[in-house]
Amino acid sequence: MSGSLRITGARVWDGAERGFAERDVLIEDGVVVDSVSGDLPTFDATGQYVVPGLIDAHFHAYATSMDGFENERGPLSFAAINGTRRLERALQRGFTTVRDVAGGDIGLSRAIEAGLFDSPRYHFTGPALSQTGGHGDPRSAHVDVCFGHGHMCEVVDGVDALRVAVRERLRTGAHAIKVMTSGGVFSLTDPVRIPQYSPEELRAITEEAGRRGSYVAAHAYSSEAVMHSIENGVRSIEHGNLIDSVTASAMAAAGAFLVPTLAAYDAMDRRGAAIGLNEISLAKNTEVLSRGQEAIQFALAAGVSVGFGSDLMGDLEDDQLCGVRLQIQAAGALEALRSLTEVNARLIGDARLGHLGAGAFGDAIVLSADPIAEPSALWEPDARAAVVQGGSVVA
Ligand SMILES: [Zn+2]
Repeated sequence: MSGSLRITGARVWDGAERGFAERDVLIEDGVVVDSVSGDLPTFDATGQYVVPGLIDAHFHAYATSMDGFENERGPLSFAAINGTRRLERALQRGFTTVRDVAGGDIGLSRAIEAGLFDSPRYHFTGPALSQTGGHGDPRSAHVDVCFGHGHMCEVVDGVDALRVAVRERLRTGAHAIKVMTSGGVFSLTDPVRIPQYSPEELRAITEEAGRRGSYVAAHAYSSEAVMHSIENGVRSIEHGNLIDSVTASAMAAAGAFLVPTLAAYDAMDRRGAAIGLNEISLAKNTEVLSRGQEAIQFALAAGVSVGFGSDLMGDLEDDQLCGVRLQIQAAGALEALRSLTEVNARLIGDARLGHLGAGAFGDAIVLSADPIAEPSALWEPDARAAVVQGGSVVA
């Protein structure tokens, strides 16, 4: 990711405050610079629009299947190789950075850094932490089998065990810690609304992460679960479909982010049954599907920083750009573009992401139309003239 490039003739996105300006983008050794002494290879983008590379803050490289047990306990080599394909395709769509919030590991991360395959910049949490019978426990109620850890989730109960689990993740390169603090759609035995983990357990997790300079992302749907999360130190609320305006205000006051994942519910609703999603999950999905866009509106009205995530499992992965369309429908093109770039960059905590000013990573997509005036430019694959990552044209 250390290419050099001059993108000429385009209107360049300078953030939600400033909009587009006509200027060249100069990328030297992978980084945007104000000026260069020598020549750079040129990409002629005359009449086109350049926005920063998109960031997906809720991605799952190892979600190879619609079957939870398969994802957790299938061969890791299969999950990893499948994950490389999922990452490559995300990059082709214009996502130059992803945050993987259940799964990933130092091995996959090292393979990306070594350039073994094309991938978005990759930030992972490792397996998400779940209580017994929580969202990360893939067992159905009627089977009596042991489950401790898988590739995407690990069941850990009790304060001391959780401290060890957090420390182990941070030891092995995790960007942040993911925890399940409410029921979910994909899990089989937990009602969607109920909070998970005790306050003491949750505080042990957020304290360990915070001391190390990291943070905690929590899967949570309902107001009860979101309040439980932020009162105990969680910074990033994943999904949040069932929140109300009071909870949104509390999130804003706590400085918590919301990472909506609209693509997942829409895709499960349209395609889940056909590709083998179980009856329990299909029924739970209808509970959260209708409320996702409203939750984004509550959050924005309250002043919450709203990011963007996709959360697509198995073959549903190709609906990633559909999530962009749904978020634009809920928030408008300007807010959605901000979510996909500057807000997700702030969430990840890297000032080189999400903009195209000097010092930024040279990650950009070239669009054939103005995405604010014609928002479909952000989700129609045909509207992408190029994807640039670290100064190299990768698609
Ligand atoms: Zn997820």
